[in-house]
Amino acid sequence: MNYPAEQNVQYRHSGDASPIAVVIALLTAMAAGFAAGVVYASVDPFLSDLPFRAFLLLLPVLVGGFGGLTGFATTSIVKWQKLRNTSVVIAVAVLVALVSYYASWVMWAYLKTHRNDPAITVGDIASNPQGLAQFIAAVNKEGTWDIFDLTPTGSALWIIWSAEAAVILGLAIGIPATHIRDTPFCERCAEWCRPTPEILSLDASEREEIMSLLKTKDLAFLDSHRVVSSDTIPRLRVDLSECPKCGLTNTLTIFVVYESPLKKFFNVSGTKATPVIRQLLLDSAEVDRIRSFVSVLSENSGEGNEEPS
Ligand SMILES: [Zn+2]
Repeated sequence: MNYPAEQNVQYRHSGDASPIAVVIALLTAMAAGFAAGVVYASVDPFLSDLPFRAFLLLLPVLVGGFGGLTGFATTSIVKWQKLRNTSVVIAVAVLVALVSYYASWVMWAYLKTHRNDPAITVGDIASNPQGLAQFIAAVNKEGTWDIFDLTPTGSALWIIWSAEAAVILGLAIGIPATHIRDTPFCERCAEWCRPTPEILSLDASEREEIMSLLKTKDLAFLDSHRVVSSDTIPRLRVDLSECPKCGLTNTLTIFVVYESPLKKFFNVSGTKATPVIRQLLLDSAEVDRIRSFVSVLSENSGEGNEEPS
């Protein structure tokens, strides 16, 4: 079935997010983020007692874990409340990230002060942001932990804290924002579509031709283009998302996967995937065509089906 190129064949969220669902999602996610912040700040003081190597290994795990867990919790909660509006989800995620980040500083300040001043409560600190800021600035002058007998203070410590904040807030906001943007929702069934990542891998050199065929939703590329193994670099990664109930809301996304630029500098393995076709809507016949192509492919694997076009 061919569609005129100018016709809208890309999936878009309806933008639905009922005010009640937004409030429930916000309150639930804030509670989760608050708990994550408290746990993070409570574990943090133990890090400085560790040997330097263990400290270096654990710090990214802890910082990434805090931001990542907050992000995944927000994602599950906005999906549970069926918020299919990326801007609303970003707004919710920003508020949750700020609450959890603030909670971590409050808990950190509480743990630092309550030994000397047992009368002080978490509530006293939380309700006085100005006092908290002054306390943080005072600790910044003194330093808070030692690395190799060096105690970062002043600008150096502000840079470390800023990097920490960027990772935490980036993950807490970025994970829900990209997940909701990239997950189609079936309005007919009120269900999120289920992804099948990398249902198919294709030769990256044929990218231009496949993209121009798909502009008119021509699935002929299945018959004429070269399938490659899923560890080939570069390659085209074809992802499918389908409504688990009616099978009528489906999308196809194609990424070009290449070696991560980080590899050159840090010698780490890893790939980077950039979408070249995003959420092209498919009907059930088109999904069947892809699925039957893939099942024939796996039946014939090793029988020379990987013909060049
Ligand atoms: Zn459906």
